[in-house]
Amino acid sequence: MKKISRSEAKERIEKFFDYIKNKNSDEIKKVKNFAANQKLPLGKHKESFCKKCFMPFQSNEKIRIKRGFKTIECKNCGEIKRIKL
Ligand SMILES: [Zn+2]
Repeated sequence: MKKISRSEAKERIEKFFDYIKNKNSDEIKKVKNFAANQKLPLGKHKESFCKKCFMPFQSNEKIRIKRGFKTIECKNCGEIKRIKL
């Protein structure tokens, strides 16, 4: 793999997440590893896919707000993601 600069890596990740809803779990896994290799935090992008099965969240997941947390239930595997508000 050719070396790329941090800003290039960042741009690649940003572009990927612009189209996250059209990606599949393998692609998401790859980008997650890529970000980890480049030591780039995914930040808010982590909220756009399931950490268990790596499927992107669409806009019709069950979302609940409870005691300062937002929870999103993955439609694919049922994993519940909690996000601190
Ligand atoms: Zn899932």
